[in-house]
Amino acid sequence: MKNKQTIISAVNELLIKKFGIPRRSKVLPNPLDLLIATILSQNTNDNNSYKAFQNLKSRYKSWEELLSEKRIVIENVIRVAGLAKQKSGAIKNLITELNKRGSLSLNFIKGLDNDSAIEQLIGFKGVGVKTASCVLLFALDRNVCPVDTHVHRTVNRVGIVSEKTPDKTFLELNKNFPEGIAHSFHTNLIRLGREICKPTNPGCGVCPLIKLCGYTDKNLKMKTAGKKREFMLLDNVG
Ligand code: SF4
Repeated sequence: MKNKQTIISAVNELLIKKFGIPRRSKVLPNPLDLLIATILSQNTNDNNSYKAFQNLKSRYKSWEELLSEKRIVIENVIRVAGLAKQKSGAIKNLITELNKRGSLSLNFIKGLDNDSAIEQLIGFKGVGVKTASCVLLFALDRNVCPVDTHVHRTVNRVGIVSEKTPDKTFLELNKNFPEGIAHSFHTNLIRLGREICKPTNPGCGVCPLIKLCGYTDKNLKMKTAGKKREFMLLDNVG
């Protein structure tokens, strides 16, 4: 088998041929906005978490206003995102902790290397490795590929890594990740996972990766892709 970097680059090119280069906002979002949006996106779809984020932004002029807000009120504002109790607790805790440090900002991670920045972010309640790595990719433009359930499933099926959990996949996948392609690789793989390489009945018959995929249970009968689902919350925070 070819080395991991070569396969990642080949997968990236095939996905770009199929889906194009994913759209990206020209201005990087504020890291704290991005972290809050990513907390809202946990275990729900992008449309609902986007609505919850917009609800927060239109109700509060600044994150400072959350300091004196009751958690239960925040829970009601973000209810559409699901798991509102946990998410409102995580957001309230994040704002409170940052305030204790003296500034409602994540600018302090900008000068850190990737590992240290992730370590700092996962120190906040409700922030895991996936959420932290999204801040690095989408708000700091680091060449880091976050691993959600779609990325975990697809890279393991293709055979790029062989790991049991998303966090282990993240560590293995990101060792010497090819320069400059993390955003397109991550975004297009999510689209592949949503539309074609689904958890059950993957659409191997229409998959652009079929020739290099090592999955042994390919579903060649499936000749149609699912509904086009391009909207990505984290490229629309701002
Ligand atoms: S060939 Fe099938 S299993 Fe492999 S990535 Fe494509 S859809 Fe997934």
